[in-house]
Amino acid sequence: MFSLDQFPLPFTPDALAPYMSAQTIGFHYGRHLAGYIKTTNDLTAGTAYQDMPLADIIMQSAADDTPLGHKIFNNAAQIFNHAFFFRGLRRDTPAPIPHAIIDAFGSADQFRSEFAAAARDVFGSGWTWLVRDGGKLRLINTQNADTPMTHGARPILALDVWEHAYYLDYQNRRGDFIDAFLNHLIDWDWVSQNL
Ligand code: MN
Repeated sequence: MFSLDQFPLPFTPDALAPYMSAQTIGFHYGRHLAGYIKTTNDLTAGTAYQDMPLADIIMQSAADDTPLGHKIFNNAAQIFNHAFFFRGLRRDTPAPIPHAIIDAFGSADQFRSEFAAAARDVFGSGWTWLVRDGGKLRLINTQNADTPMTHGARPILALDVWEHAYYLDYQNRRGDFIDAFLNHLIDWDWVSQNL
C-alpha cells in the first residue's frame, strides 16, 4: 500500500507561484498523484504485485501484457514519474546548472533550447526527461505513463507535459510553461545529486 505521505512535496503549495500556482499543485499533487496511488493500491490488492517495492511493480507490470498489467503499469509508473517531477521543483534555486550538463550540451542555453524543443514535441500526453543512458546524458520523451527505467535509462530531471500540469496556469501555452520550468522551477542542487 502506498500513500501520499511517502512522496512529500519539498515546498509549500504556494512556493512556486507565479510559475506554478498553489491551485495547480493542489490538483496535480493532491488529486492526480493521489489518484494514481489509490488506483495502484486498488489494482494490486490481492495480486502478486501487492507489497512489492514501486520500482519492482513498474518493471514487472511493464512485461505483463494483460489488461490488468497495463493498468497497473500506467498507475504505478505515474506514481514514480510524479514523485520524481515534484521532488525536482524549487523556485529560483540559486545553484547554477551543473557542469556535467554544460559539458554534455555545450552551454546552459543550448541545454535549455534542446530541452524546450523536446518538450514542445511531445504529442498528446507525456514527459520530457534528462537521463543518463549508457554513461551519457541525453534527452528523451516518453508517452503517457512511460518512464525511463523501462528503457534502461536513469532519470536525472523530469518535466510533466500532460495538459493537467499547466492548463490552469498557462491554458494552451505549453511553451510558456516549459520556459518557466527551465528558467525558474528546477532544483539544480537536487539535479546535481542525481548526476
Ligand atoms: Mn501529471
